[in-house]
Amino acid sequence: MSRDVLVFMVPTVNTNGLLHPSNITLRHYARHLDGLVLQGGADVSPQTYSEAATRPEWGGDRARDLYELELLHEFVDAGKPVLGICRGCQLINVAFGGSLYQDVASNLPDALAHGHTDYDTHRHAIVFPPGSSLGKMFQNQRRPVVNSIHHHAVKELGRDIGIEAMSDPDGVIEAIRYQRADFVMGLQWHPEFHRAGGQDLLDCTPILDEFLRAARDTRF
Ligand code: MN
Repeated sequence: MSRDVLVFMVPTVNTNGLLHPSNITLRHYARHLDGLVLQGGADVSPQTYSEAATRPEWGGDRARDLYELELLHEFVDAGKPVLGICRGCQLINVAFGGSLYQDVASNLPDALAHGHTDYDTHRHAIVFPPGSSLGKMFQNQRRPVVNSIHHHAVKELGRDIGIEAMSDPDGVIEAIRYQRADFVMGLQWHPEFHRAGGQDLLDCTPILDEFLRAARDTRF
């Protein structure tokens, strides 16, 4: 909305709800909208990547996974850009056959804290692998820092998924990109909190610009 974009919340298509289902499908949304943002929120269900939840409270939101996976695939098929944030990043990885750590703190005991009671003021440094598009985009950044509000993280990469950023020094994957599309990128951090979070956090405007550029390009 900060960039003169009309934001449209894709409504849930609920087959047995109070609202009667129409003939509108998720493919129609993908055809008529210019891009998709998959926002953060509930855990991805371990079932979605063929694992059992290692704790009962980590069951995630299976219904939301299925809905967003279908949305994501329709947007990718339509050649439209997708920006996944936090849960959205994890979902992009899972959509292409990847898996997740269910809990960074217990699965990777040597890693930094990636979630904290400080919530959105908790942060860590990241590095961009050589050859990554974020590395090119931010080549003048000496020590980029992002917020960190997650207990899941990307484990095995999905097919044709490349690493775009890693936490420093623990190497936890912090950004990914699907390489067979113009712009399908996932960020483990929350860029939408950065401006309010302080000047020392990475200014992610170039990522937003690239997403909006890809969205505009689908028009022509
Ligand atoms: Mn993190």
